[in-house]
Amino acid sequence: MRRTLVIIKPDGVNRCLIGEVIKRFEQKGLKIIGLKLERLNVYKLKDHYVHLEDKPFYQELLNYMTSIPCVLMVLEGKEAVQVVRTLVGPTNSRKADVGTIRGDYAMSIQTNIVHASENNELAEKEIKRFFKKEELIEYDKMNFGWLYCSSEKEKYSQLDIKWKSKQEEYAEKKEKIKQKGGKN
Ligand code: UDP
Ligand code: MG
Repeated sequence: MRRTLVIIKPDGVNRCLIGEVIKRFEQKGLKIIGLKLERLNVYKLKDHYVHLEDKPFYQELLNYMTSIPCVLMVLEGKEAVQVVRTLVGPTNSRKADVGTIRGDYAMSIQTNIVHASENNELAEKEIKRFFKKEELIEYDKMNFGWLYCSSEKEKYSQLDIKWKSKQEEYAEKKEKIKQKGGKN
């Protein structure tokens, strides 16, 4: 099983699509193990969109993403990252297939309703960026047995995201302050 991060972006919230988007993931068979409404912090977003910092639309993207709260969730399932990307569709909503979230609800390359992690490595980083360990809840769900055949049911194996200990976090912060030449 794998985990992935989904963000319902401000246009999804504004256009009253929260329920619709969550419904699609639920109906597919993905399990929600984290869910919250949050106005995103610009520093976290800068980390999140670091691959786009040289693009002309970068500032507009940050303004849009911080304009109103987003809904953030962590979804779990077999090959969850790829499955969710398929349900979401490509970045440019105008090119997205009918039946995908972007294909059905959006017209834009920017205001495209949802964010979904692109690969397993990024998913792990993104979950840690936006969720605290205690915000993710493991539980048994009755549909699990009906979703997968026996060879697919690896349940919670290889899931364990390595969270930093408080001491490691403290040491990292101290190191950053040191590098900036501040007091420690
Ligand atoms: N984006 C944009 N203009 C572009 C490409 C991307 O405004 O030409 C925004 C859009 O909201 C997109 C986000 O930047 O979802 C992240 O871009 P990425 O290429 O990672 O696309 P995604 O993984 O979201 O499909
Ligand atoms: Mg991306």
